This record gives sequence, C-alpha cells and structure tokens, in this order.
Amino acid sequence: MVRLQRHEFSQVRMGVDTLMVVYAAREEQAVRACRAAYARISALEEMMSDYRADSELNQLCQRAVGRWVKVSPELFYVLWRAQKLARQTGGAFDVTVGALVRLWREARRTGKLPDDATLREAQARSGYRLLTLCQRRRAVQLKTEGVQLDLGGIAKGYACDWALRVLRQHGIACALVQMGGDIVAGDAPPDAPGWRIALAEGGATTLQRAALSTSGSTEQYVEIGGVRYAHLIDPRTGLGLTKLTLAHVRAPNGVTADSLATAAAVLGAPAAKQLQQLYRGVVVTVVEADSDG
Ligand code: ADP
Ligand code: MG
Repeated sequence: MVRLQRHEFSQVRMGVDTLMVVYAAREEQAVRACRAAYARISALEEMMSDYRADSELNQLCQRAVGRWVKVSPELFYVLWRAQKLARQTGGAFDVTVGALVRLWREARRTGKLPDDATLREAQARSGYRLLTLCQRRRAVQLKTEGVQLDLGGIAKGYACDWALRVLRQHGIACALVQMGGDIVAGDAPPDAPGWRIALAEGGATTLQRAALSTSGSTEQYVEIGGVRYAHLIDPRTGLGLTKLTLAHVRAPNGVTADSLATAAAVLGAPAAKQLQQLYRGVVVTVVEADSDG
C-alpha cells in the first residue's frame, strides 16, 4: 500500500488565514490539489467579498434596487441559505446588516458609538425583508437604496466546502480546511479516528466528514464606556452584541455550520438549541459567560 504523507499549506483568503492539511501519496499531487482549492476560494471571494468594490455582491447592491438582477449560482445559493435562516431565526441572522457592520467598523476605528440618527438611518437600510430572491430566474432584488449585503457570517464555511470538494476531485479525500473559526474535515487521517480540533474554551473534539464552526463575541470587539461591542450585530439594537457568548456548531457541511454558529451566537441559548430541530445532523453548543466573565 502507498504511504500517505501529510502536507500543510496556509494562505490568506477572505481576510483570514486559510489552512489546508492534506494526506497524499506524492507531494506534487498535494501541491496541485491545494493550488486548485485556493484558486476556487479566490473565485468565491471575488463573488462574495464586501471589501472589494468590484465583487459581484457589491455590484448587486448597486444594481438590484427595485429590479431583478441575475446572479451566479454560487452567490444565489448562499443568499438563499441566508434568507432561509433569517426567516427561521426571526432575523437574528441577517445578511442585510452590512450598513450596521460598517458603523461597527467605524466605532472600532474611532472609539465612538454612532449617534442615534446615524444608527436609525443604517437600520432603515437593514432587514432581511429588503432582500427578495427569485429561484426560477436565479435573480435578486433589493427593496430600497443603500442596502449593504454582508456574507461574513456564511461565506467562509461555504468556501471550505468548495475547497474540500476540489481536493476530492484531485484524488485527495483525507483533508482538512480551516478558515478562521470555520473548519471542514474530510476522511480521518491514517491511523486516527478523526481530526483533532482544539476548542477555544479549552478541551478538544474530533471531526471527520463534517464541519465545525465557532462564532462569538470574545475575540473581535470594541470597548466603549466600559461595554464591549462584538463584531456580531444584534439586529434588534443595530449595535454589536454586548453579551459574552461563544457558539459551536457541528454540521454535515461548512455552509450550515458557519451560518448557524453566527445565528446561535446572536440568538443565545436556549433559542439557539432549537436550530437543532430545523437542521438534520446539527449539534449546537452555546457557552455564555456570566457578568464577571
Ligand atoms: P467570523 O467571521 O469572525 O469567523 P462569524 O462567522 O460569526 O465570525 O461571522 C461574523 C461576521 O458576520 C461579521 O463580521 C459580519 O460580517 C457578519 N454579521 C454580523 N452580524 C450578523 C448577523 N446578525 N447576521 C449575519 N451576519 C452577521
Ligand atoms: Mg459564521
């Protein structure tokens, strides 16, 4: 039998370190496969980035106001999944929060919260009902001007799924792809029951042919007036989440794990637990700190 060797690659994609660990018989196979997988992620980034003015997503925000705009199948699928989850969570998960995310980024830069009028104006440009999809035409429409779509809570998990698929097309089944807090695993490494994953709050778990995403308010936040505002927007207030929370979601694929982890962190336990009834093969864990941390 051919002995599989471990190969590891790391590159920045979608603003985060993107790790690929693969087992392959020959190094050149590993290199070729991972190069193709990174290229696939780059292509998805060009569609879905909210940082790039020329991304398909940002162009859509300009062009789809009051009219149908046909989009690529990948972008449509991600928006479709996002809208389904938005309805299921009463808007806790909401990819139209882009205007509010930009206010949060500004608050992080300036150390000041937006004033009431600015906040209200951004809230008027947010809300999942402002985005409508037509499956038959694979088209998207926005109800008002100035809606900024933001796929930061779902696109990385989806990109991990694609990377794993590309690796498999190159004959590599034993692989792990990680983009920040989103991990998708293929077959277990040789002689191991699964991929060993360390958890942020301590401890570890194993993963194979499944995805694990972590989302929460403990890493990215801005502290203003003694209050921490996380990069997760609570659509009810329009501001960053102020409670300390960490959500893990294990799911059959990355797009599900990523989006549900973001939703679970915003919803908080016990509402987050109910997501398990809506998605097959999903396990949601929410760790919430009390007031003294
Ligand atoms: P990370 O990107 O830090 O790994 P997440 O997957 O939880 O963590 O995604 C957080 C990102 O999701 C934010 O940076 C923002 O772009 C977007 N986002 C913020 N609030 C929401 C929300 N309520 N619903 C959907 N997406 C959100
Ligand atoms: Mg997420």
